[in-house]
Amino acid sequence: MSSSTSSSPVIIVTGASKGLGLSTLAILCGTPFSARVVCISRSHSDDLLLFQKMYPDQILLVRGDVSVRATSQEAVDLAIKTWGRLDGIVLNAGSLGPLNRIADVDVKDVESLFSINFSSLIHTIQVSLPHLRTSKGSVVMVSSGAAEADYAGWGAYSASKAAMNSLCRTLANEEPEVFSIAIRPGVIDTDMQADIRLRGEQHMAPDAYAKFKGLHTSGALLPPAWPGYVLASLAFNPKTAREQQLSGKFVQWNAKELEEHQNPMSLRK
Ligand code: NAP
Repeated sequence: MSSSTSSSPVIIVTGASKGLGLSTLAILCGTPFSARVVCISRSHSDDLLLFQKMYPDQILLVRGDVSVRATSQEAVDLAIKTWGRLDGIVLNAGSLGPLNRIADVDVKDVESLFSINFSSLIHTIQVSLPHLRTSKGSVVMVSSGAAEADYAGWGAYSASKAAMNSLCRTLANEEPEVFSIAIRPGVIDTDMQADIRLRGEQHMAPDAYAKFKGLHTSGALLPPAWPGYVLASLAFNPKTAREQQLSGKFVQWNAKELEEHQNPMSLRK
């Protein structure tokens, strides 16, 4: 079933146990990419284990918390020991964190969120960079429209994604051989949206909360495979995006400039 070879790119995907990360993993392993993937997550869902059964030669699992540097180091070491190369990292693991207004939020909860959504990016990039420089590889960050929004109650999450976008700009400047991009993946049908519907009402403005509830009830949430395809394609081979000088940029998943990286199904919508 697999057409992966010893020259197939090797990618690390963080947060691959469910949602957008799981979908990105599935796309990377299948046709046309046939990549080899090291996955990081704290839990191993049934779906993740199923994919590993389907692609036993293409998937390695690291169980751990991305906010711990040793987890990222383990993933890079495993990629190098097993396959001898690293071509891309998809920095997808993330949490919504405390939903609370700035006046009331516990700073410790903000710091915990930042260690997952921001500090983890730095140490995962640090341990990957020597190999990504060699492969002229890519760093694909999963950002959010929240980076530029002002939803009440989302202060910590929004700031963590704005910090990610800033990191992406600086990384592109400092490491011109490595392609870096922050993707705005849209509003996707994952557990994170369920979490917003569950916890958001108390702290968000009624119209903003109603917007997210409405996207769910009207079936307008995106299937994870649509933005997931873009993440997979950019991590696999960022050549055209690099030529378009998108390194360092914050780009919407379905932007015209990324057309070559989009799933044919999502282009037909
Ligand atoms: P999700 O279904 O809740 O999945 C989150 C993933 O991140 C899970 O695999 C989870 O795995 C992993 N994760 C969370 N904290 C972790 C930690 N400390 N260490 C290791 N893994 C961790 O959410 P999602 O919607 O797919 O979110 C994926 C990314 O998309 C996030 O960065 C999110 O901010 C971004 N995003 C989502 C939306 C949306 O509408 N859903 C919109 C914009 C941006 P474990 O729990 O097994 O560790």
